[in-house]
Amino acid sequence: MAVFEINHPLVRHKMGLMRQKDISTKAFRELASEMGRILCYEATRDLETEDIEIESWCGKVQVQQMLGKKLTIVPILRAGLGMMPGVLDLIPNARVSVVGLFRDEETLQPVPYYEKMAPLIDERMALVLDPMLATGGSAVAAIDMLKKSGCKRIRGIFLVAAPEGIELLQKEHPDVDLCVAAIDEGLNQNGYILPGLGDAGDKIFGTK
Ligand code: URA
Repeated sequence: MAVFEINHPLVRHKMGLMRQKDISTKAFRELASEMGRILCYEATRDLETEDIEIESWCGKVQVQQMLGKKLTIVPILRAGLGMMPGVLDLIPNARVSVVGLFRDEETLQPVPYYEKMAPLIDERMALVLDPMLATGGSAVAAIDMLKKSGCKRIRGIFLVAAPEGIELLQKEHPDVDLCVAAIDEGLNQNGYILPGLGDAGDKIFGTK
């Protein structure tokens, strides 16, 4: 598993804005989407293209187009939805697969409650979206669901990752590469990432 932490001044700047205590819902939501776009750009930089010939204003020229069945983006409900607009700005034709998981309060394990995969998912690369990779439990479960549906190429896109979550994903799904804006210090006793962003879902949806 490769972990790409995008070390770009714009990413660092925008993450700094997102970490501000009194950030508005509007600003957090816009930044989550914008970061989704930037990270998706990085996560897809090695996608295969093919040469095709087109008629241009000055005659025939060779251009490149993306190959094959392309992509599905996979927001994990609900916070992953916040990154989706920016990703769809970049890849407007991408099919969307949605997975929903809740945490069983007794076992503390993620339990799937919703799944709707894109057609021909076995031919697509899946880009899993979640702002926070904390314990890694939800990401592992979402990737389990994708693999059970036949998906073979999967990447994870997260704004903030905790080392604990990266370690679990590495153990359970070593074939999945990650693209993250920041790797933070670790988890507190409630499973929140420090310094992290707080509750990303509440901040995106304004439900705090
Ligand atoms: N989910 C969040 O929204 N924030 C965290 O820090 C961890 C999980």
